[in-house]
Amino acid sequence: MEMPEEIFDKVVKIAQSRGFVFNASSIYGGLRSSYDYGPLGVLLKNNIEKMWWKSISNLEVEIYPIDTAIIQSSDVWKASGHVGEFTDPMVDHKPTGERFRADQVPDHIKKEDLTEPRQFNLMFQTNIGPVENENSTVYLRPETAQGIFVNFENVLRTMRAKIPFGIGNIGKSFRNEITPGQFIFRTREFEQMEIEFFCDESEEDKWFDYWIENRLNWYKNLGIPENKLRIREHDESELAHYAKKTSDIEFEYPWGWGELEGIANRGNYDLNAHQESSGKDLRYFDPNIDNKFTPSVIEPAGGLTRTLFAVLLSLYEEEELEKEVRTLFKFKFDLAPIQIGILPLSKKEELIEVCNSIKSELGPYFRTEIDVTQSIGKRYRRQDEIGTPYCITVDFDTLEDKAVTVRDRDSMSQERIKIEDIKSYFDNM
Ligand code: ATP
Repeated sequence: MEMPEEIFDKVVKIAQSRGFVFNASSIYGGLRSSYDYGPLGVLLKNNIEKMWWKSISNLEVEIYPIDTAIIQSSDVWKASGHVGEFTDPMVDHKPTGERFRADQVPDHIKKEDLTEPRQFNLMFQTNIGPVENENSTVYLRPETAQGIFVNFENVLRTMRAKIPFGIGNIGKSFRNEITPGQFIFRTREFEQMEIEFFCDESEEDKWFDYWIENRLNWYKNLGIPENKLRIREHDESELAHYAKKTSDIEFEYPWGWGELEGIANRGNYDLNAHQESSGKDLRYFDPNIDNKFTPSVIEPAGGLTRTLFAVLLSLYEEEELEKEVRTLFKFKFDLAPIQIGILPLSKKEELIEVCNSIKSELGPYFRTEIDVTQSIGKRYRRQDEIGTPYCITVDFDTLEDKAVTVRDRDSMSQERIKIEDIKSYFDNM
């Protein structure tokens, strides 16, 4: 049994060498804790994103999609409490000048070598327009949630929404984290997937439980094993200033349990704060009682890039074969960056032509790749390593029998399939 740290190193290495994630600005030596997503990383991230939208587009309740600006009026962040409260306690290590979040100081550092904690605001600040002054200060959003609250009335009105309903938002958020690290687990620029779900106060607990179950099932459905996931309820001292109740969905990372998603009962804190601050009526008119009220909010707030890392870590496997160790990502068919590898047995033109025609037939429906470099064995290994569920091999017999060999990643079993049946073969996956 391998040490978890070894798995971490191996997964990070494959992620970088196979084109999932690159260090940002690498030709200039990199920028600490900034990452670029390469071709396979983008495909994987898009698939997770698609599976998120799909899972919330077919529920008994309506979840409306929205895509809000990264830069909003500073008034949004004043009203939400982020300008005043979105801080982490920071301490300096006197001998080296290194800075840490007070709750993330490495064990080997002595307490007496640390300064008293100071509050540090995590929002990135910049200026809008050519003049730099107090009125031009804006912030890069530290969460996608507020973009939803400030559009509550817009969605309500334009979609004629009826409570209970939700609004979902995916996109980049920015936090000037004091101690980023553990690869893409904690970065200063990351992607979130958040839902604000608006309901009647009397139904808060029901929907809170509903969303915990719904979101936990979603992570399981990505293929993350059940024993790597747990729910952890926050105690009073941990609760954010807006939250009545919060539970985290945690994943067992190689270094221990860490948050994947927080599910919070925000009550009517945010809508009230924006109502007070903007002077706009953000209440909901309920025709049943012929009256207006400010709904309660349940917020499932997940991290897209953190989920991608959890997926890589939990679906990584090594298998001892007779002569070698085979490494693979056991992505499900829907999740795999490349679903079907198309491999000509040799570089002979006749075989490549058949590969091209199979690719044009399957390409509109599946994510495919033709791979011609190196021996067939090495190509199978590479496809295993990037988690491709199936490989089609075109050999010399194909020219006679108009059939190809389909190899299954997990069992490595091979099956001969007629080219004319190949699309329907994969349609049934
Ligand atoms: P943490 O306690 O790890 O700092 P948080 O409780 O502040 O996280 P939330 O504000 O609840 O995080 O954000 C919702 C989700 O956004 C988190 O569950 C996580 O998946 C993701 N997230 C938050 N901060 C980061 C970050 N710096 N890098 C990557 N993902 C993040």
